[in-house]
Amino acid sequence: MKRITHRAFSLLLLAALIVAGLALYTIRYVDDGRDWALSFARANSGSGGALTDRSGRLLASFDAVENRYAEDAATRTACYAVTGDYWGRSGTGALTCFWDDMHNYSLLTGTTHSEAVDLQLTVDAALCRTAYEALGGRKGAVMVMDYKTGEVLCMVSAPSVDPLDTGEPPEGAYLNRCLTSSFTPGSVFKLVTAAAAIETVPDMDARLFTCEGETEIAGVRIVCAGEHGTQTFEQALANSCNVAFAEIAVKVGQENMIAHARSYGLLDRHDLDGIPSVAGSYPLDFIGDPELAWSGIGQSTDLVNPYAMLRFVAAVANGGKLAEPHLIAGRSGPFTRLVEEDTADRLAAMMNYNVASHYDGAYNFPGLNLSAKTGTAELGDGSSHAWFVGFLADEEHPYAFVVLVENGGGGLYAAGPVANAVLQQAVR
Ligand SMILES: [Zn+2]
Repeated sequence: MKRITHRAFSLLLLAALIVAGLALYTIRYVDDGRDWALSFARANSGSGGALTDRSGRLLASFDAVENRYAEDAATRTACYAVTGDYWGRSGTGALTCFWDDMHNYSLLTGTTHSEAVDLQLTVDAALCRTAYEALGGRKGAVMVMDYKTGEVLCMVSAPSVDPLDTGEPPEGAYLNRCLTSSFTPGSVFKLVTAAAAIETVPDMDARLFTCEGETEIAGVRIVCAGEHGTQTFEQALANSCNVAFAEIAVKVGQENMIAHARSYGLLDRHDLDGIPSVAGSYPLDFIGDPELAWSGIGQSTDLVNPYAMLRFVAAVANGGKLAEPHLIAGRSGPFTRLVEEDTADRLAAMMNYNVASHYDGAYNFPGLNLSAKTGTAELGDGSSHAWFVGFLADEEHPYAFVVLVENGGGGLYAAGPVANAVLQQAVR
């Protein structure tokens, strides 16, 4: 009897060990199975793969022996937000997120063949370099996309890092600000308030707004950056008048503001060919008129993710229909309606008027048929984020863009020249 008990115990122990071993193997397999399969496939076939930009310029390549990047440091650094690295430190780069695709790897079936796949991206490496240089060492984000096809032409985040540099990277270099950060939008959010007003306030075009530099809403003072006098709706947007937009936001009402911010995708997470972005925010609990006014001006607790803003302006540029942005070449669409057609066309015309009448378009953006909106988002510590968002109304160069310079100061003066440098090169 005693011996049987002893044996039963041994068997039980053995079974427990087998189960534990299997569990460990499964965990290791999910974690490292890809590396096992790929290193075996690569070592045996001697195959390699390459990641290239839209014109075939090499961004990264690998074979059984070595992992490589672009030849020059400027390209490696400017394109880091796009490529990431072989170690997955950024978490959002193509080398991390598309690695399985490049190897036809799946967790269930392993590699289906040993040949690695070359992957062509939609970005233009030279354009990324221009954007990164134009940021001039400041923190920020730049994105450009073709709003007719959804191709992302430029995605740059600064500070960045040369993946071959073994030194200590600048703080935040592994963060892709285009996708994984949200920022106070300031006046670029007036585009959302304007769109909501077009759809919910009757006779917007018959209304006039008077600005004497400040106003009071329910006893709370709202200050403007200027004294704009009496303005139409269109002039109020071009002046970026806080007094007018405080009134407009209150007129629109919080429920309508929330509904529009939500329907434009500004409160949602998105993804770029599967690479996730973060959601923005807008006050959802009742806040009362003074705070509602500030939220319609893009202050309050508003936060906007640059990629979500790009989707919104790209849709406005394209008659309200968004061509889903993508990073892997050879795809197009799908197209979804993000903004009502009439609203998009009206907003597009107002953005065109902004540049022609108030941003000195002929001087600041020579030769470009630009439609845009500036933003100078006050951060409460005396500094402000500079935003400049918009698009080219140009059949041959249908480009939408977002430029953000963190703590950069005024939108037009800090972010405008970055947009100009990138767009001038894009149309060349
Ligand atoms: Zn004003």
